[in-house]
Amino acid sequence: MNEETKGRLEGRTAIITGSTYGIGEAIAKVLAGEGTISIVTGRKKDQGERVVGEIRSAGGSAEYHHLDVTDEEEVAEVTRAVYEKYGRIDILVNNAGIGGPSKPTHEYTREEWERVFDVNVTGAFLCSKSTIPYMKKGGGGNIVYISSIYGIVGSQDNPAYHATKAANRIMAKTGANIYAKDKIRVNSVHPGFIWTPMVENFLKAQSRELGVAFEDLKRGLEAKHPIGRIGEPEDIAYGVLYLVSDEAKFVTGTELIIDGGYTSR
Ligand code: NAP
Repeated sequence: MNEETKGRLEGRTAIITGSTYGIGEAIAKVLAGEGTISIVTGRKKDQGERVVGEIRSAGGSAEYHHLDVTDEEEVAEVTRAVYEKYGRIDILVNNAGIGGPSKPTHEYTREEWERVFDVNVTGAFLCSKSTIPYMKKGGGGNIVYISSIYGIVGSQDNPAYHATKAANRIMAKTGANIYAKDKIRVNSVHPGFIWTPMVENFLKAQSRELGVAFEDLKRGLEAKHPIGRIGEPEDIAYGVLYLVSDEAKFVTGTELIIDGGYTSR
């Protein structure tokens, strides 16, 4: 890459949690396309290596690290390893997440409830906690929490998931206030339904439970978005790219909704 074709994020390191597939994979690829060294993380090594291979084949830089966001020691090890190798951590995208059971609040067990919080809230907390000191040493950085439309509006299913996504939204706003003085910007992104294994599995489970055809459920979901379709992982990745780029230097504590109009109704 010569000077004229340098990317918007040339040479910056970006840790993307849960980037072995789904939205995180797209974020790792789009950021690498703009020059980051994308640190692809998650628990499925084969998937992580596949994403790294695809980024490298496209001319980008990436490496895979096993990372379960609920494992505090592993989070500390991975962030330390990245800092020691590259001397900086510029970007953290708290993307890893699980949906949890789709049933009413009163039918949840405490264990089911806590598992969703463990991954979506405590996992994001641990990754931010571990990364922020390195960002401070480097003179700044960017953190993005991948929340959801369900961090903003409610619905009839997945009460634990929605509560965790609302928590992510406020974690971003609080972080924005605390760390502005350290030149760390913190924002949240709120996707509508995006076609990933999470949504496909959700629809399959609903289809089994309700006895409704998968394709009918998918069409119903599409109709909830005024744009008339479910989104693609890249739709979210380009929003993240904006937030972590210098073009967004005055943007912190904001909530970027990318939902095909879902919440505009
Ligand atoms: P997905 O297809 O299920 O992918 C989830 C990713 O998270 C995978 O890379 C998975 O990797 C990783 N993951 C799960 N548990 C983990 C753990 N304990 N530690 C580390 N990584 C873990 O989900 P997605 O649809 O891409 O969703 C990504 C994020 O977007 C989530 O936070 C989700 O809440 C949010 N979101 C999604 C939608 C949507 O419609 N798809 C809408 C709004 C918000 P491994 O299996 O390799 O660990």
